[in-house]
Amino acid sequence: MDPKPLQPFEAYCDHCHQQRPLFLYEPDHNCHLVPVVCRWCDRDKQPLLCTRCWDIEKQLEDRTPADPQELAIGGFLSAVVSRSEEYYAQAADDRATCEGIAAATEESAS
Ligand SMILES: [Zn+2]
Ligand SMILES: [Zn+2]
Repeated sequence: MDPKPLQPFEAYCDHCHQQRPLFLYEPDHNCHLVPVVCRWCDRDKQPLLCTRCWDIEKQLEDRTPADPQELAIGGFLSAVVSRSEEYYAQAADDRATCEGIAAATEESAS
């Protein structure tokens, strides 16, 4: 993803302190399943970075693995989701069977 400047302007980059056009860095993952300490979300103010520092920051964010606690919750949630998908698939099958039986009953009744 390329930096999306709201209002590019020249100032001193928060990282390299060079005067360059700056872009506001915003963490891309932007939500957590459990309250974890996150170096990107926990800062009061997102930094204003030049393109180079922005890229470095982005790569760092991409490379940083999620909190183990959060990974565990994520795994649990996706297991629940896939189980409920199975459940709905099964429920649809059951309904089809019931409808088949009902149709057959109706046919034999008439
Ligand atoms: Zn910089
Ligand atoms: Zn975060």
